[in-house]
Amino acid sequence: MYKTIRCGDVRAGDIGKEVTLAGWVDRWRDHGGVIFLDIRDRWGVVQVTANPELAAAAHETAARLRNEFVVQIRGIVRRRPAGMENPNLATGEVEVESREVEVLNAALTPPFNINEESPVDENVRLKYRYLDLRRERLQKNLVLRHKITKFMRDYLDPLGFIEVETPILFKTTPEGARDYLVPSRVHPGCFYALPQSPQQLKQLLMVAGVERYFQIARCFRDEDQRGDRQPEFTQLDLEMSFVHRDDVLDIIEGLFTELIPAVAPHKKIQQTPFPRLTWTDAMNRYGIDKPDLRFGMELCDASGVFAKSEFKVFQEALKSGGVIKCISVPGCAAYSRKDVDDLMAFAREQGGQGLATVAYTGEGVKGSVAKFVAAGEAAALKQLTGAADGDLILLVADTIMTANKVLGALRLLFRDRLNLADKNKISLVWILDFPMFHWNEEEKRWEAEHHAFTMPKEADLPKIDTDPGSMLSDAYDLVINGTELGSGSIRIHRADIQHKVFERIGLSEEEIRGRFGHLLEAFEYGAPPHGGMAPGIDRLAMVLADEPNIREVIAFPKNQQALDVMADAPSPADPRQLKELHIRLLDER
Ligand code: ASP
Repeated sequence: MYKTIRCGDVRAGDIGKEVTLAGWVDRWRDHGGVIFLDIRDRWGVVQVTANPELAAAAHETAARLRNEFVVQIRGIVRRRPAGMENPNLATGEVEVESREVEVLNAALTPPFNINEESPVDENVRLKYRYLDLRRERLQKNLVLRHKITKFMRDYLDPLGFIEVETPILFKTTPEGARDYLVPSRVHPGCFYALPQSPQQLKQLLMVAGVERYFQIARCFRDEDQRGDRQPEFTQLDLEMSFVHRDDVLDIIEGLFTELIPAVAPHKKIQQTPFPRLTWTDAMNRYGIDKPDLRFGMELCDASGVFAKSEFKVFQEALKSGGVIKCISVPGCAAYSRKDVDDLMAFAREQGGQGLATVAYTGEGVKGSVAKFVAAGEAAALKQLTGAADGDLILLVADTIMTANKVLGALRLLFRDRLNLADKNKISLVWILDFPMFHWNEEEKRWEAEHHAFTMPKEADLPKIDTDPGSMLSDAYDLVINGTELGSGSIRIHRADIQHKVFERIGLSEEEIRGRFGHLLEAFEYGAPPHGGMAPGIDRLAMVLADEPNIREVIAFPKNQQALDVMADAPSPADPRQLKELHIRLLDER
């Protein structure tokens, strides 16, 4: 071993002992004769002195050191002189008086400082990710991730779950994204698909009698990048046999109720048992299927208040079957014309046509529609929303879907603008009873809202041919502070129902057999009822680490253009390799 003690572990109890340290030079300064070094390893930083009077050779070597050099140091632990202690550092009472300093490796000047959290362009950080990862913030995030997955394994093992690895080279497993394909050399013209999740495989494990499965599973989805998306990401994939919906919910809820305080003690779960909302309630009350419940500002339906409104826009919206919905924004009644115009532009970006405002001010009712609002309506609106003087009501008259979408987005805008959500609170909420299908207008076909392996509510099954849009399913989401943490469902375990659902989403008999024949066949050999879920580990770590995106909690993420800028991937393939794979490029230049 190159070290007898970790840099971050040296304490007053070691005073007088000889120790050997190994690590990186975090800081270096020459105080006229004595050189002071901070030596860092994963466990922390310790101060080292190099005094020419005590060890001339060590001092000479220390004088040649620069930041990020890799060193090994033998020395004696001393108490720091009175007044020189650093109470902010775990090792701050002591220093190591060097006797021998050896350079294990030199280092170029890093493109950014490792020893401080200064802002650095993200692509530079990603290009030198191995240096970025040396910094305290990302070291902490790696440790947090490790603790999360370790906790999951330790929690699930005594409950009878076993971890089973499933293949990465597989067949299409649709979760609503595009597949990544891998060409086969041995089978010309054939491709593996990387699994968008181990969905079918874990269901097949249920057919195989595993009963309780989990996996810290990598998923691959080719879709547009966002802060909470990456081409490959990690889920706690879990599946159970002989369970009803609430059995799965209970296992997952028990896990997170214990995991969060264990790995992030500064975070407080707002409410246990986790609140449960139906999908319809979530949409109506928060305008979104992943509501952040750390604050109120619920959407109100003011259609009744304005049933006899003189305002044309309101009249027309109601006449065409739409609604008038609103939120009450605290303390913003004095918003200027420009402020309101900005909100209108935001509403339009969300697909709305406009925004009406009613402001309750000391000098009466103001706002963009004040002159159309009768005194009775203003009073009724105030009562409906619970608004106080000083509050601003934002109204949207549109279809229910658009009104929800616009107001749901405005609610989140004000969460951030007015700091309404406590960042140390964790709101976990179950969203239940999702629609089974939604209509894809572009492709003119029904699509599974969750995925095609989800069990429709039994009572709704007869509607599959006549009214699929009104069918509900046994799918559920767990939402954490307004981010979808994971989805799951009770699955279809009967071949006839599965076949019917495939048909409903527009697959031909040939496609069904070609893509999912193995699954349908397996269901004919005694498939047990089963269900499961897959909470996202990156997203959980992101929320618990207070990070703005999942790239910060992934060791080697892709950038927002899905590029690995460190290794330069994807990159053109060698023509010889392409030939072996039977691939000719369309635009061969
Ligand atoms: N495959 C997941 C499930 O367990 C869902 C997902 O990956 O989002 O239902």
